[in-house]
Amino acid sequence: MALPELEVKCWSCWGEGVVSLENHGELMPCPQCEGLGWIPTEDGNRLLLFLQRHLVVHVEEEEEGNGPILVEE
Ligand SMILES: [Zn+2]
Repeated sequence: MALPELEVKCWSCWGEGVVSLENHGELMPCPQCEGLGWIPTEDGNRLLLFLQRHLVVHVEEEEEGNGPILVEE
């Protein structure tokens, strides 16, 4: 069973995450994929948003639980 396609190999750097400047031969992070080498598809973006939403909720919950507050006396 195939998963939905979540990402595609970057068409600009072909998964390398870096591109070479034509005139200089220097490598720089690929501007198309921000150096990741892969670009999320629409499904991938949806998954990223899903994770961000739930990870943020998780972090906020942990911050709220910063030690018990003692109110007695
Ligand atoms: Zn790229």
